[in-house]
Amino acid sequence: MDTSAPNGNPASTPGKRQDLVGWLAGGALFGGVIGYALRPSVVLIGKLPFNVVATRGANLSGVDRILADTAAASFNVTVAGAVLGALIGWGCARMLVMSTATSLIPCRECGKRISREAMTCPGCGAPAPAAPGSSK
Ligand SMILES: [Zn+2]
Repeated sequence: MDTSAPNGNPASTPGKRQDLVGWLAGGALFGGVIGYALRPSVVLIGKLPFNVVATRGANLSGVDRILADTAAASFNVTVAGAVLGALIGWGCARMLVMSTATSLIPCRECGKRISREAMTCPGCGAPAPAAPGSSK
């Protein structure tokens, strides 16, 4: 039995690209939230509100201008978190795709990559194409 098919629907490959994008966006969102949560805080003031961070302090005026550096730093931390999250999400997606790819093995007759569970090879029609050895 193949335990690597949790959804029991191995034919559902058209959404693979969407899965990648989903992982990427989800990772970026997650990383961004983490980065935002970890942004540096200012003595007596605490962490800067999102609108200040998002504009890197561009909307600060008067004495608040001294917070611009922290706002920029907070922005950078948030972006760095988002990029890191996106990379991790991408990596997870790639691993999932790779694990799917490695569940395909070459047919013993024609070498075409086929499912481990195929009863006959879709390329040459050989029965039990995934069976090892038996080279005549
Ligand atoms: Zn074959």
